[in-house]
Amino acid sequence: MSNQEPGFATLAVHAGAQPDPATGARITPIYQTASYVFDDVDHAASLFGLQAFGNIYTRITNPTQAVLEERIAALEGGTAALATASGHAAQLLIMHAMMMPGDEFVASKKLYGGSINQFGHSFKSFGWNVLWAEGLEPADFDAAVTDKTKAIFIESLANPGGLVMDINGIAEVARKHKIPLIVDNTMASPYLCRPIEHGADIVVHSLTKFLGGHGNSMGGVIVDGGTFDWSRDGKYPILSEPRPEYNGIVLHETFGNFAFAIACRVLGLRDLGPAISPFNAFQILTGIETLPLRMQRHSDNALEVAKYLDAHEKVEWVSYAGLDNDPYHSLQQQYMPKGAGAVFTFGLKGGYEAGVAVVSNVEIFSHLANIGDTRSLIIHPASTTHKQLDAEQQAAAGAGPDVVRLSIGIEDVADIIGDLEQALAQIS
Ligand SMILES: *Cc1c(COP(=O)(O)O)cnc(C)c1O
Repeated sequence: MSNQEPGFATLAVHAGAQPDPATGARITPIYQTASYVFDDVDHAASLFGLQAFGNIYTRITNPTQAVLEERIAALEGGTAALATASGHAAQLLIMHAMMMPGDEFVASKKLYGGSINQFGHSFKSFGWNVLWAEGLEPADFDAAVTDKTKAIFIESLANPGGLVMDINGIAEVARKHKIPLIVDNTMASPYLCRPIEHGADIVVHSLTKFLGGHGNSMGGVIVDGGTFDWSRDGKYPILSEPRPEYNGIVLHETFGNFAFAIACRVLGLRDLGPAISPFNAFQILTGIETLPLRMQRHSDNALEVAKYLDAHEKVEWVSYAGLDNDPYHSLQQQYMPKGAGAVFTFGLKGGYEAGVAVVSNVEIFSHLANIGDTRSLIIHPASTTHKQLDAEQQAAAGAGPDVVRLSIGIEDVADIIGDLEQALAQIS
């Protein structure tokens, strides 16, 4: 055996997994069980008291889920991970472990629409307030931080595509205010970008998208970077003060550089309950084995399609950081040089009518609200996801009447371009 650290593609296939000790099964089994037999009464007591690691009940841990968590922690370069039922569940558990009622966090305005709803409306019921940074520059985040701010939240490659955030610069702002930087890395995946290497403290994903990669299973994950000091100034009492339900254990003191992942599991997952199903964990694990191959193909295909559209007479503009003339191209070269991902938007000269026509005319593309499938996907936000907003709100969300969003799949790029060609040709 060589002493060399395994590379990314090797980790994507092997990290966390070994042949099943009971049967020799090479593939990680689907441990389809709700609970686990204790060795004896003392063993049970030590599990419940967090004195030993082990399985009690699948709401909190499951062996299929554990392999998934170890693999993603390895791919992101974190100390530990926690898989959840969906990306939104992961975001909920992150905030549940660090926020108290009345606390605030600062978020980018350029986020997945579902996150804007979750932060702006549902989180209010918990007493957690979001402050939106005015722009995308580090200084905009700095200006929004107050003494109640407990975290900064951004997407590495931001929805609806084409925007690359200055992770290092925003991490510096977080460090200055002694608060963690949370990065949603869903659109880039760890193959294109590893935010912890650029100063992120916590990484979150919707596994439903590129990590699972086949549009067949919901899931989410929290990765603990192990970089943040939760005990420094008493700002994070959930981690730095004794937990009454666990015999007075102080989570940060006991679990050190993976205490955040533990807190999300033994408090958030235990009490709020959004556990991933073992079947979905299995499907996503299988998907991750080909992540490097798929992500490269997604990005290479998307660049070709973006170039094609950029030169098309019926297209007004294309927003894709992989294009040389894109305003985010230099940030893309810095943070994700292997590619700019699968998802981007473009504008049609024919406006709303043309947008409706293109999504109706395509044959290979699927007209639906998702990203990160092997299949090419298309949506016209103004007539679907953003239909309820007025014109001004649509424009602010990057979902004006002319905007079409694509998630480019891994099919033959000539067929993808051919499909767009015939769909555009039908617009008068
Ligand atoms: C889809 C998505 C989410 C939410 O994840 P779900 O698995 O749908 O709950 C969060 N962030 C981004 C960037 C997404 O694309």
